[in-house]
Amino acid sequence: MMKRREILEWLREDDPRALARLERAADRLRREHVGDEVHLRGLIEFSNHCDRSCAYCGLRAGNRGLKRYRMSQDEIVACALHASRLGYGTVVLQSGEDHGFTVDWMAEVIRGIKSRTGLAVTLSLGERADRELLAWRQAGADRYLLRFETSNRSLYERIHPAQPGQDRDRLAMLRGLRQMGYEVGSGVMVGIPGQTYEDLATDIELFRELDLDMIGVGPFIPHPRTPLGRPVPAWLAPSDQQVPGDVAMTCKVIALARLVCPDANIPSTTALATLARSAGREPGLAWGANVIMPNLTPPRYRLRYDVYPGKATTHAPSRGGDRRIRAVITANGRTVGTGRGDSPNWLRRESGRREAG
Ligand code: SAH
Repeated sequence: MMKRREILEWLREDDPRALARLERAADRLRREHVGDEVHLRGLIEFSNHCDRSCAYCGLRAGNRGLKRYRMSQDEIVACALHASRLGYGTVVLQSGEDHGFTVDWMAEVIRGIKSRTGLAVTLSLGERADRELLAWRQAGADRYLLRFETSNRSLYERIHPAQPGQDRDRLAMLRGLRQMGYEVGSGVMVGIPGQTYEDLATDIELFRELDLDMIGVGPFIPHPRTPLGRPVPAWLAPSDQQVPGDVAMTCKVIALARLVCPDANIPSTTALATLARSAGREPGLAWGANVIMPNLTPPRYRLRYDVYPGKATTHAPSRGGDRRIRAVITANGRTVGTGRGDSPNWLRRESGRREAG
């Protein structure tokens, strides 16, 4: 088991030969534990309404310049049918923290997809009440993604102010989701202003402690219409402590995530592809990732799902995008995943659960 000191050393390593060893180790572990298949998850960004004021995210309630949308139930189900026709095993329904739809509305969407397709349904809707999460699990939702963003409490509170009168702890929510039988995903942003190497090492240790089924890691990309979109005040972190939010650092964190959670499903994220420019999804795939989430949001809504600027998939037409992603997968000696692509971790847990009755 990797020690904290080793994690920190890797995070600070900048010798290319040493880093090539890390890449190879992560790639080997990826192959041994989750194979050469790259699973495709169709991403449906169905609403950009958000009640929160996260300092990093362009969907924040305070961003008045953003035209808000919420897709209809029929539009969402149609996107899922499209994913199914493309041969994907999963759809991911993602939104801002939108309290403008009811528990039943979302449950109907989930049932609509589950009754018409064999797709696994992943939700990524932010912080929700247990009764909602339970209702959606009972409606057929399979997985939930909720990044804890950073393990540093004071940094987290600074960038992710709590709702007045509410204190929904993301770590507690992740444990609750697991008990409800969800396959559970979390993750962090790399390079948040004020985030140190020590913080990032703790994040990686927390991946292991939470025994995550899915781990999403992407670089922080400043959004000009947010409080973190302006140059960072020097007092936030001494510069030799501040983690850079670049491609190399994000790839390191993906590799370390693979080393501490070898069975997890790990995406090569869109934020990473955005910074990697023409290299796109390839660096992530090479450093331990085994999942890609092609964007299936109807093009007319995409620009408005403005989490951070320059998103790699904003202009990619759904069909061409799909062909290109398949070509990248095979060109890198990998195969396109078939079936739901559940994490081995979760499958083991579920069979244990069934045996226990
Ligand atoms: N509202 C939901 C899901 C939407 S945001 C939630 O909060 O869980 C999905 C992820 O995008 C967030 O978890 C965050 O890690 C990432 N993100 C948000 N703003 C970002 C930015 N400026 N740069 C990079 N990633 C960002």
